[in-house]
Amino acid sequence: MEMEINGRTRVCGLIGNPVEHTLSPLIHNTLAEKLSHNLVYVPFLVEGGEKEAGQAVRGAYALNVLGMNVTVPHKEHVIPYLTELDDLADKIGAVNTLVRTEGGYKGYNTDMTGLYRAMSSEGIRIEGEDIIVLGAGGAARAVAFLCASYGAKQVWLFNRTIEKAEQVAEEVNAKTGRECIRPMRLSDYAMLPEGKFLAIQCTSVGLYPNVEQAAIVDAAFYERIHTGYDLIYRPAETRFMRMVREAGGKAYHGLKMLLYQGVIAYELWNQVEVPDELADEVYKRMKEEMGIEA
Ligand code: NAP
Repeated sequence: MEMEINGRTRVCGLIGNPVEHTLSPLIHNTLAEKLSHNLVYVPFLVEGGEKEAGQAVRGAYALNVLGMNVTVPHKEHVIPYLTELDDLADKIGAVNTLVRTEGGYKGYNTDMTGLYRAMSSEGIRIEGEDIIVLGAGGAARAVAFLCASYGAKQVWLFNRTIEKAEQVAEEVNAKTGRECIRPMRLSDYAMLPEGKFLAIQCTSVGLYPNVEQAAIVDAAFYERIHTGYDLIYRPAETRFMRMVREAGGKAYHGLKMLLYQGVIAYELWNQVEVPDELADEVYKRMKEEMGIEA
């Protein structure tokens, strides 16, 4: 469908470095097209650090930009330039979505609410669950906050560098006022209590092109997992996912998380609800673009 850009067209965009390979324009321009909104979404390369990110935020506001996504390396840089911060984003200390309000932008972290919605759409629960998190980097830390904030029972946080796992556990437990995160060494999975777990894979191990790697390769570990959720979506079946499936569990890649971080941002900007059928249509286009079948 031909879209007409005219005097009333609203602009949204993505700031980051690099931005060339992003799927976000596909997500938002498809939503705008299907919902007949007069809106375009474009990538903005922002080189430099906090200062330049701040200039971009102020510039966007001056240009009447409706909303922004923020990606690497600016998710923390933009925070001092916002007029308001959502509670979860504040705890995590990273923002991927700016919503225009009177006087400035409010920051959200829809990476995490997107992960939550993606998991919910597959029938995966966090509340009351025993959860394994693999990793203690930026993504794992945010996932640990999500789990603690959304009522997980216990979270076993495994990381190669145990000191980083300890740091994340201490911080999340303190900020959420719960003692639910337990730091673990990668080799210590035999210490898990009885029962089966939801495991969220948040390390960068197994990411293309290193598709034959996984943070833990012992089949005994995968016997303990009923559901494995990998944040990685390239490749569409990671070694982690394959090992979960081989042990009889269900496994998911991270492309739906990417879909829903975009859907939630779009909803915040336009104050609409995106119905599941429309999200499915966008998801189909994303999979086509990525060459993913399942
Ligand atoms: P990061 O901050 O660099 O953290 C990397 C993590 O991987 C650390 O816990 C690190 O452990 C671990 N690791 C790296 N190499 C390892 C190895 N050889 N053996 C064991 N552990 C290893 O990265 P991040 O920003 O958290 O991102 C992690 C992954 O999440 C990336 O693959 C990214 O693509 C994915 N992600 C997906 C989405 C989505 O929308 N689907 C969103 C965000 C992120 P140490 O602490 O010991 O170094």
